[in-house]
Amino acid sequence: MFEEYNDYRKTIRDFALKEFTDGVAAKYDRDEEYPDDLRKKSLSLGIIDMQNPAKILIAIEELCRIDAGLGISVTTPYFGAEVLMLFGNDEQREFLNDVYSGKYILGLGVTEPSGGSDVAHIKTTATKKGDKYILNGSKMFITNGAIADYLVVLARTSNEEKPHHGLSTFLLNTKLNGFKANKLEGKLGVRATNTAELTFNNIELSKDDLIGEEGKGFYYIMTFFNISRIYVAAQALGIAEGAFDKILNYVKSNEIKDENTMFGIADISTRIEASKELTYNAASYLFKFEPRPQLTSMAKAYAGETAVYSSEKAMEILGVNSLNENVERIFRNAKIMEIWEGTSDVEKLIISRFILKGE
Ligand SMILES: Cc1cc2nc3c(=O)[nH]c(=O)nc-3n(C[C@H](O)[C@H](O)[C@H](O)COP(=O)(O)OP(=O)(O)OC[C@H]3O[C@@H](n4cnc5c(N)ncnc54)[C@H](O)[C@@H]3O)c2cc1C
Repeated sequence: MFEEYNDYRKTIRDFALKEFTDGVAAKYDRDEEYPDDLRKKSLSLGIIDMQNPAKILIAIEELCRIDAGLGISVTTPYFGAEVLMLFGNDEQREFLNDVYSGKYILGLGVTEPSGGSDVAHIKTTATKKGDKYILNGSKMFITNGAIADYLVVLARTSNEEKPHHGLSTFLLNTKLNGFKANKLEGKLGVRATNTAELTFNNIELSKDDLIGEEGKGFYYIMTFFNISRIYVAAQALGIAEGAFDKILNYVKSNEIKDENTMFGIADISTRIEASKELTYNAASYLFKFEPRPQLTSMAKAYAGETAVYSSEKAMEILGVNSLNENVERIFRNAKIMEIWEGTSDVEKLIISRFILKGE
């Protein structure tokens, strides 16, 4: 699947091999610094094409295969764009051109200190006052939080019997008074990505900052996750493949032939192949505008678990050499694949709900 993009895949791979060397990746990981120079370089070469979802998928997979911290950093300045693309007004969609060109960095704030899975019960409020909304609350673990120019933010605009009916999405300019971002450090993995805790203190939003209709925010975010989970599956697939590359290289160059390692190679390659089939299959439905959320959740959960499994196996097979072969970074980067944009538990709940409905 997606063979028509093989030349593009090679272009991305060559870029990653040249720019994401182990030394560069280790430096950004150690310093916990966002690689803005690499973001700009990838933009100037025009290798990330936001107008073509298949190309985004392939770019994410290939970049994360070489290094996930850097790969995710250069492909997430657009995080949240689909909410504006699908539900924004003409002006907000127009604004996206400045995001795609790299002028602005975007992010998406849903998770709060009280938790991320239970989206319906978020506590941040946007209270209507005349033709303004006053935003108060906090968000936790927000990618690009301290570097974003704008954020798509989910907030409660009314208290309804069903809590998810009272949520709305806004486009927040981070220069507004009352916005504060506190960069989080000491993450287990993807340390090159910027992650922040945000506080909103009486931020005045105009009614033009509302995205779509009031009260529809929960649905917009769920629609977004059904898209973005495909890209997380691609991140995870790339990590699993990257770990496997390290294993193959090590086993071949050291002529390792024991049965245990052979079983490991068979097992990992099978799981990677299954993850790839699931991810590409779910993506092909989504890109035809016929999303199948249960397939998307299967891909995200299975590829996430495969990333963790493969990187753990790489640590075991390479043993002490996993340190100087930069495998431990892959192992640390893998874990988030089972957590963000829906934990594996949450994905499994979605899958079983759809299966029981007979879909
Ligand atoms: C580096 C990083 C970057 C992130 N970037 C963003 C971002 O840009 N924007 C954003 O909004 N969020 C972001 N997140 C947050 C991420 O999406 C959440 O961590 C994730 O949704 C899980 O939420 P939680 O960590 O609060 O865990 P919780 O929701 O508290 O869950 C804890 C545990 O309980 C389980 N659980 C929860 N509910 C159920 C249930 N109903 N049934 C069964 N089990 C359940 C979960 O599976 C999990 O094991 C980021 C997180 C990290 C670490």
